[in-house]
Amino acid sequence: MTEPLYRYDSHLSTCEARVTGINERGGILLDRTIFFATGDDQPGDTGELERSDGSHIAIGTTVFSDDKSEITHVPGEEGGSLPEIGEIVVAHIDWPRRYRHMRMHTALHTICAAIQTKTTGAQIGAEERRIDLNMQDPPDRNAVHDATMKAIDADLAVTSEWITDEELDANPDLIKSMSVSPPRGSGLVRLVRIGDTFDLQPCGGTHVKSTLEIGPVTITKIEKKGRLNRRIRIRLDE
Ligand SMILES: [Zn+2]
Repeated sequence: MTEPLYRYDSHLSTCEARVTGINERGGILLDRTIFFATGDDQPGDTGELERSDGSHIAIGTTVFSDDKSEITHVPGEEGGSLPEIGEIVVAHIDWPRRYRHMRMHTALHTICAAIQTKTTGAQIGAEERRIDLNMQDPPDRNAVHDATMKAIDADLAVTSEWITDEELDANPDLIKSMSVSPPRGSGLVRLVRIGDTFDLQPCGGTHVKSTLEIGPVTITKIEKKGRLNRRIRIRLDE
């Protein structure tokens, strides 16, 4: 079982870890990691593992094992030599890339809460991301933008808290995503809260500490994708 340090502190960009295995596809397993594994509408981290001899192993992406108990660091094409099992390495993520994903991902929470709807899907890209929302009437683009920017400019704190699986079962309305299931498995589920009451939902993604960090966003397009589905495309402005 890999300890996902990013789930407790998403601002860690480096950590020491012990190599616990190399899987049949050459993926590197560590006892703990700051590399986010692909999921929760967010891509896996890239970066490198630094060996004690000073050499580096490039990591091209990060994924979960099939049962989600282990996090696999997949070497990139220029990966370098594989480490020994038991070896201590220093993991470094590509922080500017991850931070951008954190801003994008937190923007998703903010936009959904701003227009008070549930998501049916999402996809995050390097430049643009799209979210699918469960709503019949197409929202007005300017209204969506203004409501989202109002929440961003309000500098709302983004915090986390933990509840038991049973508490989540007793409060199904907490679940705002119809496409991503809550991060269960350990008996505890992490809730992500924005502001005091602006948004609260189970989420395994990584987030910035305040909505202000998201910065200005542009709503590039709102499309109709079925009777009860509206797709919103957004972009982070620099
Ligand atoms: Zn989230």
